[in-house]
Amino acid sequence: MRTMLLTSLLVSLGAAAQADAQTLRVLILSGRNNHDWQTTTPFLKAMYEASGRFSADVTDDPASLTAETLASYDVLVDNWSAYPDMTGRQWDAAEEPILDFVRGGKGFVLLHAATACFSDWPEFQQMAGCTWGDESGHGTFHPFRVFIDDPEHPIAQGMPQFLTGPDELYHKLTPHPSMHVVASAFSAKDQKGTGDFEPVAVTTQFGEGRCFYNILGHNVEAMSGAGFRTLMLRGTEWAATGAVTIPVPEDLPTPKVNGAVVVGGHSFDEAVFPQIFDAHEGASYEILEQKDDSEIFDNVENFPYNVVVLYNMGQKITEARQANLLKLLDQGVGLVVLHHAVAAFNQWPEYANIIGAKYYLEDTADHTKSVYLHDVDFTVNVADPNHPVTRGLQEFVIHDETYNNYDIFDDNRVLLTTTETSSAPSLCWVRRYGNANVCFIQLGHGPEAFANPDYQRLVAQAATWAAKQK
Ligand SMILES: [Zn+2]
Repeated sequence: MRTMLLTSLLVSLGAAAQADAQTLRVLILSGRNNHDWQTTTPFLKAMYEASGRFSADVTDDPASLTAETLASYDVLVDNWSAYPDMTGRQWDAAEEPILDFVRGGKGFVLLHAATACFSDWPEFQQMAGCTWGDESGHGTFHPFRVFIDDPEHPIAQGMPQFLTGPDELYHKLTPHPSMHVVASAFSAKDQKGTGDFEPVAVTTQFGEGRCFYNILGHNVEAMSGAGFRTLMLRGTEWAATGAVTIPVPEDLPTPKVNGAVVVGGHSFDEAVFPQIFDAHEGASYEILEQKDDSEIFDNVENFPYNVVVLYNMGQKITEARQANLLKLLDQGVGLVVLHHAVAAFNQWPEYANIIGAKYYLEDTADHTKSVYLHDVDFTVNVADPNHPVTRGLQEFVIHDETYNNYDIFDDNRVLLTTTETSSAPSLCWVRRYGNANVCFIQLGHGPEAFANPDYQRLVAQAATWAAKQK
């Protein structure tokens, strides 16, 4: 009898402890703000509660944040901003209790515009990791891709790159020495951004506590996607506990490439070639062999592809087909040009302007013909790691054919280079043509290149960037 009682007591105590571990208590500080906190805060509260991991209370009065009220929470979520008042210590008596709360081992989460104030409060800046400053801004409200910079961080473990938005991608936030970037996004110039990566998920350590700044989340529309919700829930759980148990959903929207691979006019290893595209998970490609060099451009109404990958060396392209290719580029269909496609359409002068290079098939009055060399083993250097095409790539060695003595335009943004003397020094570049993202990759002659995982990743990232995923 006694034993039974003791057992059932232990069982119920265990159940209570488990229930406690499963429910983290969130307090959302809302209000003021140049954003629509009246809709975003209820959205956040519902999101936390629907996750099953959190309970959430809301206050819009900073003065209510005393040591006593904070004591019953695991994490404080800041959806409050004094913007445009960048200076001024608006939280008064709540400052010390908040700092003590975090220092003592609890969590602090900041959302989007929450850092656009308190530029004269050093501890706030230290907790945030990066804050809105004089240079800060954002481009258009648009969808973009979030890259994981620290895949080992508990928040990001198992998270793939994902599409988010439409949202505002902040740029030129003021970084503080405490900042650790977990995820970032490319701030595209054609969306009025900086042309560089900007942080979107930042963590800091503050005393025994943890802070997470989610720079995304302009409004409810921006917050509605699975990517934002996953990042916010996992970031909040990590801030509260230092660990993450909330799973990454299977259906995170990832960029979808639908590519047309144009071949013909030059032989290649047809058995191994498709490996390049098979390696690109989630993408679909169709290899289209051209019998008449360029018939893919005969009719481009309802063109089903968002990127064209040229691996052809046919020369014929009628004026009507030229106009159709230009029309696609104007519509923003991306272009990736691989290897011997540098020498395709050689009689069409505009082709060189599209790809950023001119190959000489024969000697001309003012240029000797371009040269190639088979079976060279050489090192590929990443000249610019701060671009979506090269993000995450390290220097690698490849067995390939090199090209040299062809014109490479000065206005290309060069991403990969080599010091191999038989090759042109620039191996890969990007440029804009019309509304299209264009990427040229000199590499890619044969099966050694096709099966090279670095080459496969390069082509996949080039196609994804070129396809834009708007
Ligand atoms: Zn905003």
